Amino acid sequence: MTLTELMETLPYGPAPEAAQSALDWIQAHKGRFQLFIAGRWRKPASQEWFTTLNPANSQPLAEVAQASAADVDEAVKAARKAFASWSQTKGHVRARYLYAMARQIQKHARLFAVLETLDNGKPIRETRDIDIPLVARHFYYHAGWAQLMESELAGYGPVGVVGQIIPWNFPLLMLAWKIAPALAMGNTVVLKPAEFTPLTALLFAEICQQIGLPPGVVNIITGDGKTGAALVEHPGVDKIAFTGSTEVGRLIRKATAGSGKKLSLELGGKSPFVVFEDADLDSAVEGVVDAIWFNQGQVCCAGSRLLVQESIAEKMYAKLRARMEKLRVGDPLDKAVDIGAIIAPVQLQKIQRLVQKGVEEGARLWQPSWAVPAEGCFYPPTLFTDVAPASTIAQEEIFGPVLAALTFRTPEEAVRLANNTRYGLAASIWSEDINLALDVATQIKAGTIWINSTNLFDAASGFGGYRESGFGREGGKEGLWEYVKKTARAPRAKAVAGKTRAAQPAPAVPPIDRTAKLFIGGKQVRPDSGYSKVVYDPDRHPIGEVGLGNRKDIRNAVEAARGAFESWRKTSGHNKAQILYFLAENLSERAEEFARRIAQQTGQDGAAEVEAALEALFTAAAWADKYEGVVHNTPIRNVTLAVPEPIGVMGILCPDDQPLLALARLAATALAMGNTLVVVPSPLAPLTATDFYQVLETSDIPAGTFNLVTGERDELAKTLAEHDDVDALWYAGPQAGWALVEKASAGNMKRTWTLPASGPLPDLDETLRQATQVKNIWVPYGA
Ligand code: NDP
Repeated sequence: MTLTELMETLPYGPAPEAAQSALDWIQAHKGRFQLFIAGRWRKPASQEWFTTLNPANSQPLAEVAQASAADVDEAVKAARKAFASWSQTKGHVRARYLYAMARQIQKHARLFAVLETLDNGKPIRETRDIDIPLVARHFYYHAGWAQLMESELAGYGPVGVVGQIIPWNFPLLMLAWKIAPALAMGNTVVLKPAEFTPLTALLFAEICQQIGLPPGVVNIITGDGKTGAALVEHPGVDKIAFTGSTEVGRLIRKATAGSGKKLSLELGGKSPFVVFEDADLDSAVEGVVDAIWFNQGQVCCAGSRLLVQESIAEKMYAKLRARMEKLRVGDPLDKAVDIGAIIAPVQLQKIQRLVQKGVEEGARLWQPSWAVPAEGCFYPPTLFTDVAPASTIAQEEIFGPVLAALTFRTPEEAVRLANNTRYGLAASIWSEDINLALDVATQIKAGTIWINSTNLFDAASGFGGYRESGFGREGGKEGLWEYVKKTARAPRAKAVAGKTRAAQPAPAVPPIDRTAKLFIGGKQVRPDSGYSKVVYDPDRHPIGEVGLGNRKDIRNAVEAARGAFESWRKTSGHNKAQILYFLAENLSERAEEFARRIAQQTGQDGAAEVEAALEALFTAAAWADKYEGVVHNTPIRNVTLAVPEPIGVMGILCPDDQPLLALARLAATALAMGNTLVVVPSPLAPLTATDFYQVLETSDIPAGTFNLVTGERDELAKTLAEHDDVDALWYAGPQAGWALVEKASAGNMKRTWTLPASGPLPDLDETLRQATQVKNIWVPYGA
């Protein structure tokens, strides 16, 4: 090759990162790794081992222990034992351990990066520059929260022993996302890495030993799905944190239902990458590279659906094809390689199968002219155009380097297409018009929105899904709530006086003989069944009748609530507050009547409860325009807006005690946050709620915003839990019902909040949090 030719083509030479340090580390362990339990290495009870391979060349790397249920039990016991003292360890001391972890990870950054690349097949450029620095950042950031926990999370304590199950796509990073907040908040953990990628977790276990972390605070057990299932089912575990596929997430939701275990799920996605005609196309093309070819597309929030405005579609595709032609697929240890190896043959086959399906369903396939290496597990970057919105490749998570492109004409159509998915993990929006970008950001249903950027992550910013992408957040202050529970109750705003039955005033008026109707879509309607049910006072005297609602009534109510949602969501906080104040005003007009009704149903002091309810309505109104987000402090030139948003259509099954106060505290707070509701009053005291709709009718509350269905609690709860258009469910009732709703809600992964049937109502801060979900909008800047 002449010098001129060389200058013209500038071909890449090999630039390999040396793997020896990582291979030496494996060799130092004689190629075999045991389980890390109670600070020591232990052989698995079964004496079974499995091999972890290098996906780039299919060569074995090491043998790893297969943990059985007996080993899981040992690990949980060790974590429980350690919890007794770790949970009492001062925040400052925990901060020091987390700080030491961060420092050690930085000191061993190269070893970690190489080991991760060997085990996972992702390019060294990514492990070195993205995964490992972010891991260290997570430990530093959460060291800070350990330090601040006492003052900033006063009244909260650790949950207990946490079982954590992570996938293979970001092995060490997912470990950090799970372990750092758990330890910071005083929990102990048992973590199961993915079968394909256990090695960096084992190196991390060594670091725990080196820094003198008390035994049992972190336990690492390797194994397969059976090991994960044993951890999920172990009765000694107080919380499960899972990242992985929606299918396994659904199994875990069902397995933990009713067990009282706290649960957070970070699941799959089919994230839209929306490009408007005024976008900077060259930047958008680089964005696409990052969105779908980062980590071989094996990213839960990968921008796998390109939605591009029709007027610029061909231009964008041409630029994209030119860029794809220049991408380099190959040895992940080569520092000049863009796309590494797919994790395993099974994943490669899944990608090939879905690509074939795309072709069969009529989409146009394009791949670069060059071939990927024949040895190892590689797949070329792939672009599909002319993709139909309902086709398999537009709907299913491929988890590979495959982009499905669709076009739109208007911003409304872009939003509709973006939301045309069962997932809701992330979205990326490209436009030079910030008004348009922010307007669209508020309408896309996803936990993270990146504007003119993509795949930005930081410990300070929460990450997690809407819909079937799961629930719970990781990162930011919002991520900490997953690892704490209330310890001391804040003093109640106002005690309800007259608790004794003796204080029960005699009913001043005879019961009114009428059957209260349901309240759906702003109208009083008869129940579909035509049946009613008698309501009794505490001495079993009949005091009235309410309609016996059924599945059809619930479906009608959900439809009404869905229809009202968009405009209620957009109603300003100020106007929502005005409506809630108006409710209070009209309720106070009828205070005596409500007090009588409460006394009649519950035998409690009705006047005090009405007063408390009025106060609660005022509180909800006050928060309607004051429950604000924050701007996260992410370390680039960027504002990350963490915005609390309503969840959507909510079902609320009310507790038995304090029927009016429960409505004011729970339903009014959920309304104040912009949700629309289907409320099922307690079967013991439904008449307060049916009286309440007369207050609603005179208070300007838009039709469909607040719907009320009376009937059998668990029957209606099950229908609400199974309904795919209900986004969240609060269930106050007996513990058997908790399992019922949690299990039934696995269909669309709706958020559930289970509460006791009676006793004090939850505090306001928790109620506000349960009524909202946080969306992070990243807005980088720079002229
Ligand atoms: P899984 O969801 O099966 O794996 C995630 C983790 O859960 C692994 O540690 C796995 O163990 C463990 N696990 C498997 N079954 C159970 C169970 N019944 N109970 C408890 N834990 C369990 O993902 P896969 O690795 O099998 O990948 C399958 C598909 O999932 C991919 O093709 C991709 O589409 C998607 N995926 C999505 C991810 C995301 O972040 N959204 C991450 C990974 C995969 P083990 O590794 O031993 O199987």
